[in-house]
Amino acid sequence: MAEQAYRTGKAPLNAVEGFIRQILGWREYVRGIYWTEMPSYESINFLNARRNLPDFYWTGNTELNCLAQCISETKKNAYAHHIQRLMILGNFALIAGLDPVQVNEWFLIVYADAYEWVELPNVSGMSLFADGGSLASKPYAAGGNYIKKMSNYCKNCSYSVAEKSGESACPFNYLYWDFLERNREKLKSNHRVSMMYKTYDRMPSQKKAAIADDSARFLDALT
Ligand SMILES: Cc1cc2nc3c(=O)[nH]c(=O)nc-3n(C[C@H](O)[C@H](O)[C@H](O)COP(=O)(O)OP(=O)(O)OC[C@H]3O[C@@H](n4cnc5c(N)ncnc54)[C@H](O)[C@@H]3O)c2cc1C
Ligand code: SF4
Repeated sequence: MAEQAYRTGKAPLNAVEGFIRQILGWREYVRGIYWTEMPSYESINFLNARRNLPDFYWTGNTELNCLAQCISETKKNAYAHHIQRLMILGNFALIAGLDPVQVNEWFLIVYADAYEWVELPNVSGMSLFADGGSLASKPYAAGGNYIKKMSNYCKNCSYSVAEKSGESACPFNYLYWDFLERNREKLKSNHRVSMMYKTYDRMPSQKKAAIADDSARFLDALT
């Protein structure tokens, strides 16, 4: 039908090509990972992430505007698009070190399209890097700047995306670096991440201390 829509001039080539590629390529790849790796895939936790899922994933009641918006839209529509799932909801779960079993349970419950064969590889593999790289070649971790570039959430947030440290700084900014440092032993040899360790290692020690302090304060208050 998608191809027919292109051939009859009802849909542009770039939209049809992307849609068919996702379904024939990526979706089949995800399905293959599930059937090859199960049943052990269900309990993998390569990064040993143990933090409980915060209540705000259910309520949307958080000062982080990007999360509040994605969660409230999810509650309303039982749907969020790919970038909301991966780079906001999943990214936060990754860099805050949330327990993959609890994160998977949430994704399975809240989305209308959540069937385990497609949900589990997307959450544990693509989003949380809990499979150590069977599905994706690097963790999809990002700081606030990425979210600012891809959305308009930051304009109405009580945190400042421009600030890197302190109580009013965007938590994605310091959690990103704290995540890398926390998982250095497991990630340092990943060639797609190693550049980021070089950047971190060049930071002055006060900046590294601020990242550690801000992250500890934020994460302690989380659950
Ligand atoms: C953390 C996380 C959880 C997800 N959970 C689910 C889920 O439970 N069920 C589900 O169907 N998809 C899931 N996805 C994949 C994807 O986010 C959804 O298929 C997507 O939201 C569909 O809407 P879209 O407009 O972004 O599709 P588009 O980007 O326009 O893609 C077109 C079609 O390609 C397929 N597709 C695109 N990306 C993926 C992908 N990563 N995996 C599988 N199929 C893909 C879908 O069928 C989609 O309708 C998840 C992704 C992430 C990062
Ligand atoms: S400032 Fe940070 S927490 Fe607020 S919306 Fe932007 S990325 Fe999200």
